[in-house]
Amino acid sequence: MYNKTIWKENIKPLLNNKKIKKQVDVLMIGGGIAGMTALYQLSETKKNILLIDKGRIGFGVSANTTGKITYLQDEIYEQIENMYHFEIAKKYLYAQLEAINFLKNVIKKEQIDCDFQRVDSYVFANKKEELSKVQYLKNFLTKCQIEVKEGTKIPLSVPCFQSLKITNSYVFHPVKYIYGLARICLSRGMQINENVRAYDIDKKENLYFVKTNLGIIQAKQVLVCTHYPFFVKPGWIPFKTHLESSYVLATKVKNPEKFSAITITKPISSFRYHSDVNHYLIFASMSDLLTKCKSSTNNFNEAKYNFSLFCSNNPEYQWETHDVMTNDHLPFIGPVSKQNKNLLIATGFQKWGMTNGTLSGMILSDYVLEKNNQYANLFLPYRNFSFKRCMNTVKDGFEVMKAIFCSLIKKQEKQVRIEYKNAKRIGIYTDEYGKEHCVSTLCPHMKCHLLFNEIELTWDCPCHGSRFDIDGNLIEGPSVFDIHENSDVKKK
Ligand SMILES: Cc1cc2nc3c(=O)[nH]c(=O)nc-3n(C[C@H](O)[C@H](O)[C@H](O)COP(=O)(O)OP(=O)(O)OC[C@H]3O[C@@H](n4cnc5c(N)ncnc54)[C@H](O)[C@@H]3O)c2cc1C
Repeated sequence: MYNKTIWKENIKPLLNNKKIKKQVDVLMIGGGIAGMTALYQLSETKKNILLIDKGRIGFGVSANTTGKITYLQDEIYEQIENMYHFEIAKKYLYAQLEAINFLKNVIKKEQIDCDFQRVDSYVFANKKEELSKVQYLKNFLTKCQIEVKEGTKIPLSVPCFQSLKITNSYVFHPVKYIYGLARICLSRGMQINENVRAYDIDKKENLYFVKTNLGIIQAKQVLVCTHYPFFVKPGWIPFKTHLESSYVLATKVKNPEKFSAITITKPISSFRYHSDVNHYLIFASMSDLLTKCKSSTNNFNEAKYNFSLFCSNNPEYQWETHDVMTNDHLPFIGPVSKQNKNLLIATGFQKWGMTNGTLSGMILSDYVLEKNNQYANLFLPYRNFSFKRCMNTVKDGFEVMKAIFCSLIKKQEKQVRIEYKNAKRIGIYTDEYGKEHCVSTLCPHMKCHLLFNEIELTWDCPCHGSRFDIDGNLIEGPSVFDIHENSDVKKK
């Protein structure tokens, strides 16, 4: 039941058996909401395009989300205004509105069956100290001519000191939506190859050579929509971002309500209902920096306790997930560096990837088609550094150093022990049959120490979020290697 997300249930696989192409105009890596939206946008062009995904499309973080489509986004506008100024925060808001319109129009035009529903959306303060933040948001939206309704409750019995409500937001089934886009793309002759993992990118003259498990693919342009870019250089993204984890629970309910809600500050509590054959209440909480190296058991127990405060049902689905946060609160969408105008990335969605992933698809496809996009500069990955951004980078770097140290000395969970063999640190997990599973505890990505997650039985990197199973097989990047591919500790 752990690590079981509601969104992967009953999703029929794509039928696409085409042989992988080795030379394309545009190679897209990653079929989450960002990659699939970009492919959809390019699906009527004459370009030779290929999308690859290391697993099944739509089964990455987009299958772990809560799937709310809204511009009423916790404290992000205040954070952006503090980092830059009002006009930048306003532009970010308008970009969100455009993404919501895009989603609405595409779902309607293409008749995508994805449980899309208009709902009221709330932001609320569950502590008195947060009232000023709600007030900021109200003033900000009013200044941007957005109507919000103030109140002192949300339609659930949870502590609420003040709330803001908008009526034009939505919820949907993110994976059904992604598969809807994918099927349209396939019907228009686009090619998608699943189970193809990109390992590395090389640039020679004006061409990119992407190393994959099925050989090298040559492309004029590469769109990296892998949630977190799997390379460090160019772009140095690990130094401009940090990760936040969250715990999500879902349970069947009899009477779903038409609203979604989120607390104004962290640790967030986020609520929505979902209806297909059954009705569900979905709740996310315990959001925190991954670098804090917290115990997965404690986090899950606390998430369950929080859930029990307003719902007496036992959760049927529980999963842990994380998203990429940038050091200036704006996503990175576009060319990764000045020298790499044809290597484009989409990451750092700040837990608002349904809109920002959609925007990524719109912006990246405009780059490919050489069209102007009014939001391209706002999200440019190599935008200028400011003093405040540098300070956040230092803070993030310090957190990573702390995590490296903490993961080295932290007592691992009960079922594992650490041994040193030939000066190498080995994590040994003993399964229920007494079999030992040994892995190096060094993450192949940037050599942070992995921590054992006893709830999900995975080895997790507290620095950048890579995850591996008990035998070291890669579950989630940015690492592109299984542990044993990159170390001399072999599977037992
Ligand atoms: C708890 C939580 C709740 C959230 N709730 C919301 C919400 O309500 N609303 C909202 O707007 N946002 C929400 N988000 C954010 C949102 O879910 C994410 O930002 C978004 O899904 C990211 O989409 P993506 O396309 O970038 O990544 P993904 O969906 O992860 O897609 C990336 C794809 O790339 C593939 N890939 C990775 N590496 C490689 C490789 N080396 N080679 C080939 N393929 C590769 C993966 O298999 C995957 O399919 C939430 C996030 C969290 C953590």
